Formats: sequence, C-alpha cells, structure tokens
Amino acid sequence: MGAAVARMALPNRFVSNTMKTLKRFVLVGAPASGKGTQSSFLSETYDLKPLSTGALLRAEIAAGSQLGLEAKKYMDAAMFVPDEVVNGIVAKWLGENKDCGCLLDGYPRTVAQAETLDANLSAMGMSVDIVVYLNVALELIQARMLRRKACPKCGETTRNGEEICPKCGSAMIVRSDDNPEAFAKRWKDYETLTVPVIEHYRAQGKVVQIDVTEEGEPSDVSARIAAAIRTYAEK
Ligand code: ADP
Repeated sequence: MGAAVARMALPNRFVSNTMKTLKRFVLVGAPASGKGTQSSFLSETYDLKPLSTGALLRAEIAAGSQLGLEAKKYMDAAMFVPDEVVNGIVAKWLGENKDCGCLLDGYPRTVAQAETLDANLSAMGMSVDIVVYLNVALELIQARMLRRKACPKCGETTRNGEEICPKCGSAMIVRSDDNPEAFAKRWKDYETLTVPVIEHYRAQGKVVQIDVTEEGEPSDVSARIAAAIRTYAEK
C-alpha cells in the first residue's frame, strides 16, 4: 500500500515516470448523486480507506457521545454540522491514517472546511491529490429522490421505489432527509456552500469532473470515473 496507490489499479502500460501519484482523494457530488456507490468503487479500486463524515457523525449519534448529541441537533434539521466540529473529527482521523491512501466522502463541504483540510494536510507534508466531482443533472436527482426508500427496521436502502424491504419484509419509507422540504434545503446548501469547494480545487487544477445527464448503470459511471482518473494521472 502507500505511495503508488493509484498506480496499482492501472494496467502496466499506463505507468510512466510522469504519472502522478494519487493518494488523497476527495469525492464531491450533490445529495442523491450516487456518491455512496462510487465511493465504494473508488476505495476498492484504488485501495483507499474511506471516510464518510455523514457515516461517522451517525455512528457518534448511535454511540450517544457528546459529539453525537451536538451533531444530531443539526442533522435532524437538515443543516450542516458546524465547521469546527467536522474539521475536528476529520483532523483526528487524518492524523491516525497518515500512511493510508484515503477517500474523503462528504468532506470538505464548505470552503472553510477545504481551507482547513489544505492547511492540516500541508502541516503533515501532504495535500489533496484529486477531487472527483460527480456532476449529475438536477432532473435525474429529483427523479431518484422520489424512488429512494429506506427500511425503518433494518436500514436497507433501495432505489426503485420498493414498498417492501427486500431484506426483512418490513414496509419501506421515504428517508427523512429525502422528504421534499428537507431535500430542497440540502440542495440549496449544496449549491451555495459546496459548489464553491469544487471551484476552490478547480483553481488548484485538481478536479476531475464526470457529467451524468442520463440515467444508466452505476458501473458505467464507475468506468468513466476510472478513465478520467487515468487521464488525470497521466497529465
Ligand atoms: P448526504 O450526502 O445525503 O447529505 P451524508 O451522510 O453525507 O448525507 O450527511 C448527512 C448529514 O451529516 C448532513 O446532512 C449534515 O448534516 C452532516 N454532515 C456530513 N458531512 C458534513 C460536513 N462535511 N459538514 C457539515 N455537516 C456534515
């Protein structure tokens, strides 16, 4: 593991001395852009340790920690958790995972978080190496949101409007943060607070953008991501 993380997944003929070494990935996309699926693809393909701030915050809530109690107030209201709180947990995680290739999913979500991340990595002699931006058309996102269901009993999520949980047979519900009001709020936050993060890294020449304009197989999106990463690594 380590230095040549991204190279390992590339066919040998693409490996050259000029190829960039990619160790610290950021994945950015709107709510319901398919980030979860592509996060798994990226972490498996490039041997990256994933950090989802949403999942980490939910784990803190489940553990009933002080941090979880604080975060829950914001998450229940479909608001971003304050930068200081999220920056603190990510800085700790990065400090504990210095030697890993890593994939940040759901962070940084504001320019202030991006600036803190850049400063923290720089203090450790590192930097964000690549930002994968899943740019999914709003019409697709809206249609997906209406079909996205969650099982209140076992936590299974599905994408095709299933009424009954395929895992445990319970009645499926719309995820609480997918109700139209909460979704509108999340979308607005994404546009006003997170899109500037993409611009922040575009100015550093680090963004690989994948445009998704038609509904298709997640594996096709993964293949396009892999091709775009290869091109970026070779530049
Ligand atoms: P989604 O991408 O669908 O919003 P996540 O699991 O990434 O879901 O995040 C769930 C919630 O956790 C967010 O709505 C927000 O309240 C909080 N959260 C996660 N990451 C961050 C972050 N980087 N900054 C602020 N709040 C965050």
